Amino acid sequence: MENRVEIIEDRKEFVCYNIKNKDMKLRCEENSASGAVSQRACVYCGARVVLNPITDAFHLIHGPIGCAAYTWDLRGSLTSGSELFRNSFSTDLSEMDVVFGGEKKLVGAIDEIVKEFHPKVIFVYATCIVGVIGDDVDSVCKMAEKKHSMRVIPVKSPGFSGNKSMGYRAACDAIMKLIGEKKKVEKIHGINYLGDFNLAGEVWVVTGYLKKIGIDVVANITGDGRYDDIIKAPQAKLNIVQCAGSMGYMAKQMEESYGIPFIKTSFVGIEDSENSLIQIAGLMGNEETVKKAEELIKFEKQKIKNDMNYYRSRLYGKKAAIYVGGGYKAISLIRQFRDLGIETVMVGTQTGKPEDYEVLKQITKEGTVILDDANPSELEKFMVEKGADILVGGVKERPLAYKLGVAFCDHNHERKHILAGFEGAVNFAKEIDLTINSPVWNYI
Ligand code: SF4
Repeated sequence: MENRVEIIEDRKEFVCYNIKNKDMKLRCEENSASGAVSQRACVYCGARVVLNPITDAFHLIHGPIGCAAYTWDLRGSLTSGSELFRNSFSTDLSEMDVVFGGEKKLVGAIDEIVKEFHPKVIFVYATCIVGVIGDDVDSVCKMAEKKHSMRVIPVKSPGFSGNKSMGYRAACDAIMKLIGEKKKVEKIHGINYLGDFNLAGEVWVVTGYLKKIGIDVVANITGDGRYDDIIKAPQAKLNIVQCAGSMGYMAKQMEESYGIPFIKTSFVGIEDSENSLIQIAGLMGNEETVKKAEELIKFEKQKIKNDMNYYRSRLYGKKAAIYVGGGYKAISLIRQFRDLGIETVMVGTQTGKPEDYEVLKQITKEGTVILDDANPSELEKFMVEKGADILVGGVKERPLAYKLGVAFCDHNHERKHILAGFEGAVNFAKEIDLTINSPVWNYI
């Protein structure tokens, strides 16, 4: 296929080829270039991704009805308890509210939610227009807390106030506000699990492994999370962070405020699941716990050995392109592909940090394209140039791959299979095999 796409001038420093004996100067962690049509969502959407999985919380979007379209149906996550989080409310601000202010409507909406649903906590999201007209969302939330004797937490997330990472930060600030100041708490022997949103049940896989080696979880933040558990989070002895891009900031805040140390972990792929389990066992337990973790790993690996060998034989020599939200997933996916005999030829993220890109440079081969905050044209250009057989991404990347006649794997909210841990590694290999080796490609 002919490749005529040019990278626009303002984007050139956000894209590079991996050249091993040369320093990589890739720009990242910046707002998207005007006119580049980034794949990123807005600040409010970033905040919603993080907070929405709290199962017994209520989400009130203070803004025009369009912002409220971003609901559980688009960003689903699973629950083992309350289904309350699947509801969504909006103050539906219109022209008159923009002129005269929307605070009255917000007060009315909170009153209505409390009367109908009795949630333990309401998150009130301030969207673009609220940032412009200057409604005092903080005061309204404070007054509502007094009036109803419950938690009403403002989430400062006007879409224009930065990029998606700012939304993650706004969500973390909201959770910290929910937990509140807890100077002296009695510690319990358990961990908090941060940055897994339980899209297809991953939290249950990971907490299941931890339970088997004798480690308790105090709070899941936020996948399958609950208000009562989250406010107990300061009692934990260790925070393990799956998606550091979204919750690394909160882990640092919790370390400062409650003295809880944290480690970055990943349960994407066999290698990373194994390393994470051993590391957690070492920090939280004793020799016995590490031994239990080793036995569990041996057992789980044996269970999937034949399946993995089968898929390796069918996938060896293929080429992958990766474009995902954060750095941790991109790094783990490269290792996972390597385990299947697949080389990664292009890798990018929406919100990766300099340290993530440094690791990506180290673990990819010379000539691999590395890019931050890409747009569809760039993804298309490099997938074609590098001859990728498959793209791994989210809902916005799916049509792009299919239009190019390239296989696709959803590693985001639309998927239905667990992709974490050892069983997740088999599900992933199976899905890659099904899509790459689908007979449909013979008809293109
Ligand atoms: S950019 Fe602003 S108006 Fe658009 S969805 Fe985000 S908060 Fe709403």
